Amino acid sequence: VSLEDLSAKVDAFAASAASGGQLACRRGCSACCEVELTVSPLEAERVDAALAALPVAALAAVRARVDDPPGRCVMLGPEGACAVYEARPLVCRSQGLALRYPAGTMRPDAVRAEAEDGSEVTWCPLNYRERPPAPSEVLDAERVDVLLALLTRRDRPHAPRRALREVVASHGRL
Ligand code: SF4
Repeated sequence: VSLEDLSAKVDAFAASAASGGQLACRRGCSACCEVELTVSPLEAERVDAALAALPVAALAAVRARVDDPPGRCVMLGPEGACAVYEARPLVCRSQGLALRYPAGTMRPDAVRAEAEDGSEVTWCPLNYRERPPAPSEVLDAERVDVLLALLTRRDRPHAPRRALREVVASHGRL
């Protein structure tokens, strides 16, 4: 199993959930990107490789945002598109989906429903406006987190998490 495998599984789940017609997620809807992310070392390496593959002007545009005020992802372009979309971290791939976490581990104001097993479910308020998500549309987010942690422990046991902004700032200089 690799980060690419795990990403593909989350992408497939997201595609299946989208087929239910209740996800408003689209290019340009970037509320989820108004954050400063830190990512696992494997994800940071993947993003770094994606930066290396960008056209010169696109990379320059990302670099120009490194010193922007905090609170917005450095990868987010002015048109609301991610500069490294194909290599975006797992947390970005699952944003907007209905996500399940063990009871008591989520901020209480984020909990929108309770699953049959007592775990708590959250989703973006722009999604599932006509009906709540079906059980098959709820991603086991804890399982994704655990799998990523296991991959990291196996492949990069001593590497720290990295801020995406720092990945950009140090790109090509490591
Ligand atoms: S990496 Fe891309 S998808 Fe993730 S928060 Fe940043 S701009 Fe958004």
